[in-house]
Amino acid sequence: MKKDPFKLGIMGGTFNPIHHGHLAAAEFVREEFKLDEILFVPSGKPPHKHKSDIASPEHRWTMTLLATGTNKCFSVSSVEIDRRGKSYTGDTILELKEIYGARSDCYFITGADAIAEISTWHKSGNLSELAKFIAVSRPGYKLDMSKIDSRFHRCTYLVEVPALAISSTEIRERIRRGKTIKYLVPEIVEKYIYKNKLYQGV
Ligand code: NAP
Repeated sequence: MKKDPFKLGIMGGTFNPIHHGHLAAAEFVREEFKLDEILFVPSGKPPHKHKSDIASPEHRWTMTLLATGTNKCFSVSSVEIDRRGKSYTGDTILELKEIYGARSDCYFITGADAIAEISTWHKSGNLSELAKFIAVSRPGYKLDMSKIDSRFHRCTYLVEVPALAISSTEIRERIRRGKTIKYLVPEIVEKYIYKNKLYQGV
């Protein structure tokens, strides 16, 4: 039987590709906030991106599934990939509350750079009533709360994770330049990237 209230961590991101920094951050937050589960939610169509070097939603979802398979507290959702249109976080949290129960206590976890822009997100007015927000970053990052709507001040937390020195941008760049990505991503993800020839274009 599920705990009541169930404490659900929603790990949102493009995961292009998922790496050890994401996994370490999710595990660290799970422990610190005593969460029952961390659900990774790869974005289908990130609302603010028009980039051509984003792997397909199916590839990003599969890599996320492969990377999280060894942690029994981790799971992966395709809600944003299955939904047509842009991946708005508010829609995702509402959909997950229908699945996990209205009383579930949701913690939306993502990069601090993304959380810094939360006041500009779609229907941001309601977001602070739906979840708590955990901004993860490498040590030394300062979240400028003066740019964030005051409604978020009581429900937003900054968590430092040294492993977040790893970034998806750097990994894609290393692949393009033919450099090793060993130990930056799980081995199973590394194999998947090479097998499917991802991120090798200019
Ligand atoms: P992004 O701009 O690609 O990433 C910003 C920074 O945060 C990057 O340094 C990135 O590093 C890091 N990051 C992203 N996700 C992370 C995670 N789960 N854990 C640790 N670091 C993470 O951000 P994004 O992926 O597009 O958006 C992040 C989340 O916010 C997504 O779930 C997205 O749907 C949501 N969002 C919603 C709205 C909206 O509702 N309107 C608008 C913007 C974003 P890496 O590149 O290494 O991951």
